[in-house]
Amino acid sequence: MQILLATSNAHKVDEVRAILAPLGIDLSHLGALAEPPAEPVEDGETFEANARLKAVGYARATGRRCLADDSGLEVDALGGEPGVYSARYARDQFAADEFEAMPRGERDRANNRKLLKSLAGVPLERRTARFVCALCLADPDGSIVHETRGTFAGVITDEPRGQNGFGYDPLLWLADSECTSAELSPEEKNARSHRGAAVRAMAEYLRARAGIGARPVD
Ligand code: IMP
Repeated sequence: MQILLATSNAHKVDEVRAILAPLGIDLSHLGALAEPPAEPVEDGETFEANARLKAVGYARATGRRCLADDSGLEVDALGGEPGVYSARYARDQFAADEFEAMPRGERDRANNRKLLKSLAGVPLERRTARFVCALCLADPDGSIVHETRGTFAGVITDEPRGQNGFGYDPLLWLADSECTSAELSPEEKNARSHRGAAVRAMAEYLRARAGIGARPVD
């Protein structure tokens, strides 16, 4: 089975491929397309809504079965922020278009700095947070094949630690492992992460019911 993963984030591609490849699923991604379609506007209010609009939009535009992930960080002391705005949390601190023009790693560091500033003075026990991943698999006719969700809980540290992963990984402290998510190996992260859980649930569905039970988009 061939699936197009609707992302150009190499970290996400590696994480998803590690789980789907052993099932014999050939996972391609937007970065490998000669002419990737225009990005749909991610204006959903939930991770699920954004995953759905990306999966359906890219599946229709490319004519391929498409898997989309929408993910982010919910911080309890911030009322669930940055949530669906996680990737562009620090955009307001830069001139128009400047943030989008920055390389991904720089945007991640700016987002992390803003998060630490927003939580200044908040004690560790109130810095509870979780990564959330919503996955949606859609067919070229716009029908949704299946949807899954995973979460990965920790607390937000007061300074970044670790070099692995991406995004807010250096700030998610995992008390049981005494390290941040960015200090886990890729295999360790996949075994317990939000994306790992959502992809394994999707893999389970594909194994059991591939091609059965598609339902039309609302
Ligand atoms: P998306 O690419 O629109 O889904 O944005 C997701 C954003 O949420 C990323 O840019 C990161 O800031 C954050 N995020 C999602 N998953 C992870 C993860 O596994 N580790 C760290 N940050 C993540």
